[in-house]
Amino acid sequence: MATDSVNVRAALRQQLMSDRLLGARAVPMLPPAPAGGRPRAGAAAGPADTGGKAERLQALNEQQVKACKKCDLCQTRTRTVFGQGSAGARLVFVGEAPGYEEDKQGLAFVGKAGQLLTKMIVAGMGISRDDVFICNVLKCRPPNNRDPSADEILACGPYLQEQIAIIQPEVMIALGSPAAKTLLNTAQSIGKLRGRFHEYFVSGTTGVGPSIPLMPTYHPAYLLRSPGEKRKTWDDIQLVMERLGLPQSGQA
Ligand code: SF4
Repeated sequence: MATDSVNVRAALRQQLMSDRLLGARAVPMLPPAPAGGRPRAGAAAGPADTGGKAERLQALNEQQVKACKKCDLCQTRTRTVFGQGSAGARLVFVGEAPGYEEDKQGLAFVGKAGQLLTKMIVAGMGISRDDVFICNVLKCRPPNNRDPSADEILACGPYLQEQIAIIQPEVMIALGSPAAKTLLNTAQSIGKLRGRFHEYFVSGTTGVGPSIPLMPTYHPAYLLRSPGEKRKTWDDIQLVMERLGLPQSGQA
């Protein structure tokens, strides 16, 4: 839409004028959407063109997640955080759990880490945040932002599994160790997992049924504490861009 394009251009200008994300020298432009094909990664996809996906996501949120009491986090949350973005997204980001700001607003990745994620998407990848889908493994905030427990992941995991089954993205990015370990059912560290694609099995069982390429990378909150690792994250993102057919930037 024209308004979206104006917003994206304005955001890009702002980002480029303030600070160059991850050292990027050029911002990639989106390729045209393939005729008759799936929407490009940056193409907005509303309810009318997602084959009922938006309605199914909304039903999952309204009828199950918002009222969920499957684990003790329901007692301390302010709001559930379902995630947001395009139901027709080709790319889905998954973090571990909502933080303070997310719990207050009911939106995923809206705190400082979320702002960095937005820079990664807009200035780094050259697409709009509204055109990807962003969510977490847990839909409620753990007190004091502690790591999710195994019981909480077990209780909440099926919601994420259902979200992915509905959206059917072409590629996923797991942000941080808990998300990567949960989605890949592994104990390996994020340092060992990142840098190459793995397979996320939609069935939840490794080796069973269809799978989606998944790139683990560092969580934006970790990058805020360890900016020296941004380069590795940028490398991971460029692999994702290549997989999606997005033009690479002139990264230093
Ligand atoms: S974290 Fe998930 S399982 Fe636990 S109460 Fe919230 S929505 Fe339900």
